[in-house]
Amino acid sequence: MPPLIFRKGLDLKHEVAGTLAESYHSDLVAAIKDSEYQYASGRLTIHLAREFGFCYGVDRAVDYAYQARKRFPDRPVVLTGEIIHNPHVNDQLRAQGIRFLSDAGESIDALTPNDVVILPAFGVTMEMLEELDRRGCTLVDTTCGSVLNVWKNVKRYAADGFTSVIHGKYWHEETRATASQASHEGNGHYLVVLNRDEAEEACRYIRGGGDRTVFLTRFENALSRGFDPDRDLQRIGCANQTTMLSSESLEIGEMFRAAMRDRYGEAEMAARFRAFDTICSATQDRQDAVAALLDEQPLDLMIVIGGYNSSNTCNLARMCEPGLPTYHIAEAGCLMSAFEIRHKPVGGKDEAVSAGWLPAGGEVVIGLTSGASTPDNLVGMVVRRLDDLANLSR
Ligand code: SF4
Repeated sequence: MPPLIFRKGLDLKHEVAGTLAESYHSDLVAAIKDSEYQYASGRLTIHLAREFGFCYGVDRAVDYAYQARKRFPDRPVVLTGEIIHNPHVNDQLRAQGIRFLSDAGESIDALTPNDVVILPAFGVTMEMLEELDRRGCTLVDTTCGSVLNVWKNVKRYAADGFTSVIHGKYWHEETRATASQASHEGNGHYLVVLNRDEAEEACRYIRGGGDRTVFLTRFENALSRGFDPDRDLQRIGCANQTTMLSSESLEIGEMFRAAMRDRYGEAEMAARFRAFDTICSATQDRQDAVAALLDEQPLDLMIVIGGYNSSNTCNLARMCEPGLPTYHIAEAGCLMSAFEIRHKPVGGKDEAVSAGWLPAGGEVVIGLTSGASTPDNLVGMVVRRLDDLANLSR
């Protein structure tokens, strides 16, 4: 029997609305929005970016997960991995009794038709979907429409004989899912490039060829099976993970366009090069809001709240860091004291502790934003903690 798939919720939106509000809403954040996104207390002023926090895709995914729990109280409800990259939200789901396939002791091999499996907002690979299908699990598909749009583009590239060049993180769930769509059953190829440096290396190969083995080793984890750079870089279509830094994605697209033009000439471009900007509107809006905040307000420092493995949050921090001290924190507890802060340094891998983050005396003006997987209640807790620490000696 084919599995049952829920793609538009489970008709329990109103029933879970109260629990969702209790778990993720913040009256304080709502009040700050009503006060022109500004919070003032004692020597502290906080300017909140005008777009921040849960995006439409995350909102929907979390909503469907709670609906699934309510709809199937007597059946195991399982997530394929983190529903979104926010530890607080994932822990809340665990507390609802939802299991995670990525946790120790869990395995897809143990799933049966009795299991209800939630697919996350960033989607799953074709291989995983086929396996869940074989096992006859009931599926609750929360894949975001913006991710489906990327898939539509890379599938079209494959159908037309173009290799997908994806600006993204090859290890990220969304990019792995997108890559699987671009190469399903050997029908197409892909190359994932992380940044300008990697794009430049690929562009150099397009322009003048090179050592095939060196290329294959360099991009070992970021290529489709059987990729041949001499064959598979002759026709390319650019796409990107939805949460990348928009300005970087556009620049990388232009780098590939220029390389293809240099190699094949302008007359060949229509037959050999395509590009779609697949940054989602929520990511774009959050990046635009941070750019506006940096532009409009003189700030002493910037706090960016979100999971350390959240791509869009890391990119918000990257935007701020060149201009002013920037601290990417996971939650209010990272503000250890008025002197010490735990944070993920921009571009770094591991959490670090820094000292002297909060100016010791006089007025202090802080910019604040949060990634698309960060609920408002965490933002509210950070505001309260900042207030306490800044005004300790008031
Ligand atoms: S960040 Fe964008 S693509 Fe990802 S879930 Fe949110 S809206 Fe969808």
